[in-house]
Amino acid sequence: MGFLEKRDPEIFNAIRGEIGRQRGTLELIASENFTSLAVLEAQGCVMTNKYSEGYPGKRYYGGNEFIDVAENLARDRVKKIFNAEHANVQPHSGSSANMEAYFAVLKLGDKILSLFLPEGGHLSHGSPVNFSGQFYKIAHYHLDPETGMLDFDAIRKAALAEKPQMILCGYSAYPRTVDFKAFKEIADEVGAVMMADVAHIAGLIAGGEHPHPFPYADIVTTTTHKTLRGPRGAVIMCREKYAQAVDKAVFPGMQGGPLDHAIAAKAVCFGEAMKPEFRGYARQIVLNAKALADELMGRGFKLVSGGTDNHLMLVDLRSKGCTGKEAQVWLEAAGVTANKNMVPNDDKSPFVTSGIRLGTPALTTRGMKEGEMREIGGMIDRIVASKGDAAVAAKVKGEVSALCARFPLYPELEW
Ligand SMILES: *Cc1c(COP(=O)(O)O)cnc(C)c1O
Repeated sequence: MGFLEKRDPEIFNAIRGEIGRQRGTLELIASENFTSLAVLEAQGCVMTNKYSEGYPGKRYYGGNEFIDVAENLARDRVKKIFNAEHANVQPHSGSSANMEAYFAVLKLGDKILSLFLPEGGHLSHGSPVNFSGQFYKIAHYHLDPETGMLDFDAIRKAALAEKPQMILCGYSAYPRTVDFKAFKEIADEVGAVMMADVAHIAGLIAGGEHPHPFPYADIVTTTTHKTLRGPRGAVIMCREKYAQAVDKAVFPGMQGGPLDHAIAAKAVCFGEAMKPEFRGYARQIVLNAKALADELMGRGFKLVSGGTDNHLMLVDLRSKGCTGKEAQVWLEAAGVTANKNMVPNDDKSPFVTSGIRLGTPALTTRGMKEGEMREIGGMIDRIVASKGDAAVAAKVKGEVSALCARFPLYPELEW
């Protein structure tokens, strides 16, 4: 890295600062993770120099012999992991993958039925401030207000009433298992395409801790940088009947040249996710989430749906008398990183919120287990109970540093 330090010390120092921050704080943001050094190396490689519009064997420019090798490996591996008939590994991000998926199977103005966003959906599932809410008609289903869980009677009723062209499942803040078969049955009943956006749970699916969306889904999108632990980016998978439409929607429909370095890194990530060790990783993510959830509930915190089946939990802070925004700031002052999040029936705005979302994928990558999760639950309780008291924050911050030092991050990096 001597090159960057000499050429651009300002950026070098920003990156060094970020590595230090990642090493010295507890990362509980459910959508973040730490890639392997192999993924980092592939993502920082010379494939960034190449133009390769098109697909393997059918490129617009010459010189794509090795780019084709990487993209074919990425496609073959991800198809194998998810039992997919077809995969497109070129989408730059989860949001662009969703746009491309909609373009592939819907007409502008068609109707999408998705989860109400404040209950766990994603911006790209129909928010009025997002392209999805502007290009398509959007109808929403809701969680059961009592249990905080998906309510298939209500979803079916909404589908029959709204007659959408697409029913969308897969979420950003839903702590429970998703029944893809039930979604497919409802979609079939109303003649809708069933799409699953598994961005958050892809790693759990790959590791055998969450059921697969195929063979039920018609089209599946996922990011590669959340539980899957790869580079920032995304993938679209689909049944063979949509393969051509998906490929056309990605290129030339939406994107120009693919990010070949990112695709190489995706291939590395998929290779890692196919290894037996990844099953152990996915298992531990879930065990850690359960341990953290139990510790918090034991300390009187209310969790939406009363717990978790996956990698994340939503803490409803209303019974603790503080907002999500306050908790996020207090936790950050003590070296604990999490994000404020809407909870069902939230009376606060998305900028304030009544909840925080906590996830275990990143800390599990560092090697932490149930014991550490219980310790962290205790820290969170002390911070929230003290209402962000500076002395408590300073004390906890010292404990956070000591805990981080016991689980070194990227010890091989010289930075
Ligand atoms: C994170 C996420 C996305 C978007 O991913 P970006 O890469 O940030 O665009 C899409 N859908 C769901 C459900 C997500 O959680």
